Amino acid sequence: MIRRVLIANRGEIALRIIRACRELGIESVAVHSDADARAPHTLAADRAVAIGPAPASESYLSIPRVIEAATSSEADAIHPGYGFLSENAGFAEACAQAGIIFVGPPASVITTMGSKIAARGIAGAAGVPVVPGQTPGDQSDAGVTVAVERVGLPALIKASAGGGGRGMRVVREAGEVAGAVQAARREATAAFGDGTLYVERLIETPHHVEVQIFADGHGAVMHLFERECSVQRRHQKVIEESPSPMLTPGLRARVTGAAVAVARSAGYRNAGTIEFIVDLSGKGGDAAPFYFLEMNTRLQVEHPVTEQVTGLDLVRAQLLVASGEPLPWTQASVCQRGHAIEARVYAEDPARGFIPQAGRLVQYHEPHLPGVRIDSGVAEGSEVTVYYDPLIAKVIATAESRPLAIGRLAAALRAFSVGGIRTNLPFLVRILELDAFRDGRIDTGFLDREGAALATSLPVESPISNPQSLTPLRGPLPPGPVNPQLMDPWNGVPSRSASIRPGPTGRRARSAGVGQLVLTAPMPATVLKVPVKPGDTVKKGEVVVLLEAMKMELPIRAPSDAIVAAVVCREGELVQADATLVELK
Ligand code: ADP
Ligand code: ADP
Ligand code: MG
Repeated sequence: MIRRVLIANRGEIALRIIRACRELGIESVAVHSDADARAPHTLAADRAVAIGPAPASESYLSIPRVIEAATSSEADAIHPGYGFLSENAGFAEACAQAGIIFVGPPASVITTMGSKIAARGIAGAAGVPVVPGQTPGDQSDAGVTVAVERVGLPALIKASAGGGGRGMRVVREAGEVAGAVQAARREATAAFGDGTLYVERLIETPHHVEVQIFADGHGAVMHLFERECSVQRRHQKVIEESPSPMLTPGLRARVTGAAVAVARSAGYRNAGTIEFIVDLSGKGGDAAPFYFLEMNTRLQVEHPVTEQVTGLDLVRAQLLVASGEPLPWTQASVCQRGHAIEARVYAEDPARGFIPQAGRLVQYHEPHLPGVRIDSGVAEGSEVTVYYDPLIAKVIATAESRPLAIGRLAAALRAFSVGGIRTNLPFLVRILELDAFRDGRIDTGFLDREGAALATSLPVESPISNPQSLTPLRGPLPPGPVNPQLMDPWNGVPSRSASIRPGPTGRRARSAGVGQLVLTAPMPATVLKVPVKPGDTVKKGEVVVLLEAMKMELPIRAPSDAIVAAVVCREGELVQADATLVELK
């Protein structure tokens, strides 16, 4: 049995793994960046190793540093959590070479399933339907365009190496194809170092249903039922639940059977998830069509809902399987009981286009309520930095029925208070109050279509939110409902008021002169790209600077037709909030 586990992660998942280790009598070793020297996971582990500066590329994503930390601390296994190196075959391989157990599947399976193109092949060979699509042999822009034409519009251009909703672009009109191919490729190359693209038919208003599977080294491959994850924003899950309110028993049997077939034919081991989209635009019922999307070769963010309805500890089972033990259950012994729902609490501002928030949690209180589990990675006083993703906690409610679980979750979210930075807590409560959500009618596009309206409908002093969670990072909220045209950096128009708002030091960042417009950074960020130079003419809506913060791309667009007067930032530079980026006239 494994004796000492190094956890190559941070935040709530690192704490979750430390808890499982402690129960099993396994020693835990945390790794941390300089930014996380006093983070909860660093303090909670039995020992902690500093592995480098704040940027993930120099710490949590550095294979040599993580392996060195494991060797020096004499860990016999590494749990990668999710994100970071969890789906990096090179990392699994490096563990093997260092004689360290990787808590996950064999490196070769990560490689195969990490290519969505190869994974589609495996699913097809296992007799499981994949979304109708095309893999262009010719990967040039022209080749991908031909694939889009063959698939027909609307289509989805996707990165073979994609993940976290990145490297994906919808095309509805022929005129959008060229731009979408380039955007998908650029995003995929930046995020995954691999710009290989394929094209799928866009399934309109689908449901995202995924199946938790588990396999051991003794021939057992089983499923732990499904999770419904259709409440998504920009292809990122926001609320997840089990069972899916959309599945009939017959459809559930088909979907879970398909998942086991894919895992078996992939030669899978340990915990994994097979994602499907279910097309309920027809009659639905037992015969509704569903398609394999991809396999995630790791534990998922939303694994707690499966743990709640099955009563099983997935991290414990991961450690057992990695130690070479058989799975501690049989398919027949596993059942789905009651209902569990998880909401992801993000440091982001729904009223300003969901822009991620960084800053200190000056106040932080988690509710303690029956049937409510909270997996979090922060504490009062913690700093949410721009270096990592903005997930701060997951709130999971369990009850005997779906309506009761929803009510329980809403009550828990209302009682959750966060001060110092804005969160999506009030927005989550609004979603739970929707009739469409209560009826289980939300498809994967719902929040992208309705989310902005839903967010701006949030009264600033909403009775459903804790006022503390609405405390802005700097300066007061503009009075009245926030106008999304002015405040939505995602959808393009940067905050004009930013240029005359007091800066972080409290003095006036200067006013723009007549006919001048100063575009500033809405938050601390890295400058990814500056596609314009002084003298260029830009059209309203054109991207003048592409920023990145908290793993998200933030395009800063021209608010009107203009001429670029000055460019005040460089590609690769880390800029502070309110820093001037570009001056337009
Ligand atoms: P899962 O499929 O396990 O639910 P996701 O696909 O949502 O997980 O996220 C996969 C990885 O992306 C996770 O490791 C998580 O850290 C990261 N991630 C989660 N939320 C965001 C976000 N808003 N932006 C970028 N990355 C994210
Ligand atoms: P990622 O690796 O980024 O998680 P996925 O392939 O799992 O990428 O897709 C993420 C989300 O995008 C899905 O949950 C679904 O909402 C949407 N999606 C993916 N493919 C399609 C498709 N062909 N049609 C409609 N929606 C899709
Ligand atoms: Mg996915």
